[in-house]
Amino acid sequence: MHTTCPYCGVGCGVKVDSQGIPSGDTQHPANLGALCVKGMALGESQTLPNRLLYPRVNGEQVDWPQAVEHIAHRLGDIIERHGPGAVAFYGSGQMLTEDYYVANKLMKGFIGSANIDTNSRLCMSSAVAAHQRAFGEDAVPASYDDIDDAELVVIVGANTAWTHPVLFRRLEAAKAANPNQQWVVIDPRATATSQQADLHLAVTPGTDLVLFNGLARRILDSDRLDRHFVEQHVAGFPELYRQLSGPEYRPDNVARVTGLSIAELNRFYQLFLDHPRTLTLFCMGINQSLRGTDNAGAIINCHLLTGRIGKPGAAPFSLTGQPNAMGGREVGGLANQLAAHMDFAPANRDKVARFWGSDRLARAPGHKAMEMIDAIERGEIKALWVMGSNPAVSLPDSARARRALAKCELLIVSDISPNTDTAKLAQVLLPAAGWGEKDGTVTNSARIISRQRPFKPAPGAARPDWWALCQVARAMGFGEAFGFASAADVFREHAALTGFENHGERLFDISALSTLSDDEFNALIPRSWPLAGRDGGPARLFAEGRFPTPDGKARLQLSAPLAPAGGGAELLLNTGRLRDQWHTMSRTGHVARLMAAATEPQAQIHPDTLARHGLNKAELIELRNEHGATLVRPVADEGMAPGQVFVPMHWSEEFSAGGRVNDLVEARGCALSGQPAFKQNPVQVSAV
Ligand code: SF4
Repeated sequence: MHTTCPYCGVGCGVKVDSQGIPSGDTQHPANLGALCVKGMALGESQTLPNRLLYPRVNGEQVDWPQAVEHIAHRLGDIIERHGPGAVAFYGSGQMLTEDYYVANKLMKGFIGSANIDTNSRLCMSSAVAAHQRAFGEDAVPASYDDIDDAELVVIVGANTAWTHPVLFRRLEAAKAANPNQQWVVIDPRATATSQQADLHLAVTPGTDLVLFNGLARRILDSDRLDRHFVEQHVAGFPELYRQLSGPEYRPDNVARVTGLSIAELNRFYQLFLDHPRTLTLFCMGINQSLRGTDNAGAIINCHLLTGRIGKPGAAPFSLTGQPNAMGGREVGGLANQLAAHMDFAPANRDKVARFWGSDRLARAPGHKAMEMIDAIERGEIKALWVMGSNPAVSLPDSARARRALAKCELLIVSDISPNTDTAKLAQVLLPAAGWGEKDGTVTNSARIISRQRPFKPAPGAARPDWWALCQVARAMGFGEAFGFASAADVFREHAALTGFENHGERLFDISALSTLSDDEFNALIPRSWPLAGRDGGPARLFAEGRFPTPDGKARLQLSAPLAPAGGGAELLLNTGRLRDQWHTMSRTGHVARLMAAATEPQAQIHPDTLARHGLNKAELIELRNEHGATLVRPVADEGMAPGQVFVPMHWSEEFSAGGRVNDLVEARGCALSGQPAFKQNPVQVSAV
């Protein structure tokens, strides 16, 4: 049985034998047979000690018809009293595309509320916004094959060795095969990734925008500006030229702001100028910022100015954190998207309303993730359906998020576990089919659509999320539009919508797959979009220099930098992931060998900083600020910059009394994308 790993955006193919033992799928283009430790441990996470097996309403076990009737009645009542905007849905990059599609159709198409957002907002929405602004559509230009062709790999705001391990192995193999390939890693921390770099730039947190605008300025001053490409394929050059001509992008100022030496800066800029085949990989350090969209836009600018896009080994490449963050984007699973890469423009609304046969379509974008919490606090949102996510731990200012969730008149949680911090607050729990039980598709960082296939029955009364959504939709009176009998049925409709009245203006068109039979859907091999036909599609975008904008040109982005956050702070808090853990650990936290690497929440701090605060001998420390406090064990780490602390984001009440680090993160973020700024939060520290 061939399926796909459910843990990260690399999207590795997995082969599962008749005993349920996983191994790497040598035929899958994402991993060519490799798996990381989490993928190898997939078999061990199949028997959770606390699986949610039956629906529960107000703590009582009920059957599905009772749960569905209760939800439909309560949602109907809330909508009647307060309107459709009083209902919201919070999804997850763990959901399969088919689950996402039905959730989006129900919320935006039939309930008439665009209050559907997802934890993908937390990981890559800045990249989405940057792609839309620069290219006209949310489209990742690169493919994994570009790694092999690159002469220079720039990794920004990512500890790829830990967070995308199989991709990192591919990078290592490419470097081994081509010793001239150079790596630059830009990260405030020394990490397993930076250790292998030719150049590590330990920038001051929050200064990436200045660094890349400085690079753009250097490109403008050099003979590496690709004037022909810019004239033919790029708009906005005079405006960007004017903005970058200011004194703030002179090397001395860029060095001062970023905390780098002039020599480091010159070396990076010269490497970039000297290597036409440059691949820039970026992830959370870029996206989870007050200027996340501008950060990503500044990286894209450097590639557009040098014509390094659509060519082998040359592209900006956003890495997604979750296995199906891309699939969610494709169906419109973000509050500011409508469906199939369409926004809420009147023509798009008309098109989608006709396709779905609905006269209730949401008229405008809804609340994004953090805004949903505000709207619950204000009493505007009364009902929230959370699917496959744990926002009580993962949202910024999570103590406040928990208070808001507890305030909902109706909180429904669909999950495999009843013990997440969010599930404990719910009035209605719905048992979801998990990995190995559910059927559908996911799309990875490189636009490869892969199948997740079931290889065992779901236990108890656990059911696929798309099925639960359809039951509720039918009970609410939307029956005909939700008559799907299988995941294949849902996929066909989703694929058809991507091509509906799409005369080439949108790249995302997989309508060639809308006529797949059930057998063909089951046998579907990994495919990257856009499809050139049934037999394959181009892996790399924009090779012709044409972009999905009205004039076919990409847009250079203007962006004035903000001052870095945390000036004068006692400590600056950075958060991120561990190699062996996933999200809030609801699966990986039950696997002994994955827990062995980190059994408790720890804080990495430079030894000098520990000494400065008199914490050398402290067993436990408290990190705190005006939002909350948490206990962690301090670990001296010379790879940390003095004055900074790193704490993993995984720990929840289910696994530890301390370590809920998002309690300390202020609920603010990029104004353009709505992505929270997890990476630069001032905290105080003391021994316990
Ligand atoms: Fe799974 Fe990601 Fe590891 Fe691949 S790299 S096996 S997708 S966790």
